[in-house]
Amino acid sequence: MSDDGFGAMEGGCTCRAVRYRMSSKPLFVHCCHCRWCQRETGASFALNAMIEADRVVLLQGQPEVVNTPSLSGMGQRITRCPICRIALWSNYGGGGDAVRFVRVGTLDEPDRCPPDIHIFTESKQPWVVLPRDIPAVPQYYDRARYWPKDSLERRAVLFPAKPEAS
Ligand SMILES: [Zn+2]
Ligand SMILES: [Zn+2]
Repeated sequence: MSDDGFGAMEGGCTCRAVRYRMSSKPLFVHCCHCRWCQRETGASFALNAMIEADRVVLLQGQPEVVNTPSLSGMGQRITRCPICRIALWSNYGGGGDAVRFVRVGTLDEPDRCPPDIHIFTESKQPWVVLPRDIPAVPQYYDRARYWPKDSLERRAVLFPAKPEAS
């Protein structure tokens, strides 16, 4: 159950065979302007809500996992509807299975998860104009500097033994 006052959010694919619930607010929301995200979405950026895997509850359907190359070289596993093939979330090499990157556009109320940061703005398509009040970085960023305290604490529960990645 969510105790952050945010409430649960539901989402799913286009054919509605797969439905899921995000049981709390995300840890952090990335708007990624890298070329990989542009290619994967066919658009100008990807909007991903990072959240603990166990806070994404499958309500309906049997999604399939597709191994896909990633910018880091470590690969990502994209979870897709087996029928309409819409991508619902990814797990990246670094975060392993513990953190899912939920595609915000698959939420029923995507407006509730605006970006907390814009990343890889070095390859941002020039017509995209960023807001002045949201952090933006040319590539990646230092988590401790940008994440809110409660999100850092939630992440520390997932990765207790690991030293901070450099
Ligand atoms: Zn579907
Ligand atoms: Zn990207």
